[in-house]
Amino acid sequence: MTDKPVFLMPEDIQRMIGKDAQRNNIQAAKMVAEVVKTTLGPKGMDKMLVSPTDDIIVTNDGVTILEEMEIEHPVARMMVEIARTQENEIGDGTTTAVMIAGKLLENAEKLLDRKIHPTMITKGYHLAAEKSKEILNELAYQVSQENEDILMKVAMTAMTGKGAEDSRERFAEIIVRAVKQIQDKGNIDLKNIKIEKIKSEGVGDTELISGIAFEKERISQDMPQIVTDAKIALVGFPLEIKNTEVEAKISVSSPEQLRNFLDQEERTIREMVHKIQLVGANVVFCQKGIDDFVQYLLSKAGIYACRRVSKDDMEKIAKATGGRIVNGLNELNVEELGKAELVEEVKHGETVLTYVRGCENPKSLTILIHGGTSHVIDEIERAIKDGLGDVVCCLKSESVVAGGGAVEIELARRLRKFGQTLSGREQLAVEEFASALEFIPVTLAENAGLDPIDVLTELKSLHDSGEKNKGLNLIVNKIEDTLEAGIIEPARIKTQAIDSASEVAIMILRIDDVIASSKKPKGKIEFDNNLEY
Ligand code: ADP
Ligand code: MG
Repeated sequence: MTDKPVFLMPEDIQRMIGKDAQRNNIQAAKMVAEVVKTTLGPKGMDKMLVSPTDDIIVTNDGVTILEEMEIEHPVARMMVEIARTQENEIGDGTTTAVMIAGKLLENAEKLLDRKIHPTMITKGYHLAAEKSKEILNELAYQVSQENEDILMKVAMTAMTGKGAEDSRERFAEIIVRAVKQIQDKGNIDLKNIKIEKIKSEGVGDTELISGIAFEKERISQDMPQIVTDAKIALVGFPLEIKNTEVEAKISVSSPEQLRNFLDQEERTIREMVHKIQLVGANVVFCQKGIDDFVQYLLSKAGIYACRRVSKDDMEKIAKATGGRIVNGLNELNVEELGKAELVEEVKHGETVLTYVRGCENPKSLTILIHGGTSHVIDEIERAIKDGLGDVVCCLKSESVVAGGGAVEIELARRLRKFGQTLSGREQLAVEEFASALEFIPVTLAENAGLDPIDVLTELKSLHDSGEKNKGLNLIVNKIEDTLEAGIIEPARIKTQAIDSASEVAIMILRIDDVIASSKKPKGKIEFDNNLEY
């Protein structure tokens, strides 16, 4: 036998074992929750994020904040992942999800202090998460397409506190109309709602366009600026004489031959434009380039044309106008033309937009956001996206719950009752799970400058007496029936948040060993500074 130490791994690997690892991970998760905590709810504060290139973002949006922070701690990164999942699945509720996860871990720490084994805690959390879904089902109210009033309220709740205050109602109307319009045989794909932004005076000018607006101008001032009763040709190929890839050499031996050659080219081009006119198009959107001569002829024919329209926009125009993108002139027929009441070019300061308006039953729409500065516009865009996400979510799962912390209090109450039916130590974990949910109303109150303990006590006693929708209305800073007050959220925000928060909390609690290899850049030789010469 030798006394030589055995090395499993290289010496420069960092390792943290057992309690140290657990505590360190929990600490990191708590810190992430702490970062976003102050932004929760309508009275939440904003954060200003400055990038290395001095770009500034002012936002209240959980996922935006966490993504911009370039977090490094591995567990903290798992927390950011929760926000990302929530954003992708629903588009809202990111702060809520991260906060619940943070609180679940913080509360687990208390149990660990009381020498309760992590497997007991994870078992209890798992049971509680499952039960929560069942309870949320009981607490949810049905909504359908026809309940526009409720859908509007859902959109408004999503936008509260996100810099869209004055125009909330108008935005909500736009959102609900847009989502209902793009519904196609029960499918809703938000990609069909284009969000275009423009700097101008008033946020209130934000509008829903039954069609599309995109940043392109007509290629010649001689073309009409407005075309009514538009018949739109969507051209996917260049309107030019084909440029051969290889440099072509033409030998001409007489002026006659040269003229013939040029005549030939001219004829081809004239035929192109003639074909467009023949099918009755008065607007041409071309995905590729347009030759100068084609441009001249189109102008002469009074046709509005844009070139190099992006593929994405072309597809949206097709969906909005009912047209089809053609890839050869021989494919162009009357049936392929898109239709719109109006196509026009509008200048907003430096920006020039082409609008396609008044499409009949469009399956693609544009929300054109107006605002004074890019920071305002961007925050409104995030608010509108939250609203869109929530309304879609309602239509898909057809159920809503009372917001302002009401549902969390009721859920916690019923979970505690459920906990009492369990024997063993998981009961304590269920109890802690319940109090983690109460962290939402507590924080809503705290962020609004109310006394969180008073609020929590009052809410709990109201719920004990059967008032299951009592929560915080932070527009008037009162405890009210939030369902009646119109503070309504899709039930799925909550189920998704609880699901991902508990999953990650459980995963983090199971870790008792963190092995981190050093980040040595490959191929670079490191010198030891302590070498003595
Ligand atoms: P998240 O990123 O989790 O969506 P938000 O900052 O959007 O965070 O806040 C959402 C919370 O704010 C929800 O719990 C919601 O019920 C609550 N809320 C929204 N409007 C109101 C209101 N008028 N009064 C009280 N609470 C509200
Ligand atoms: Mg929100």
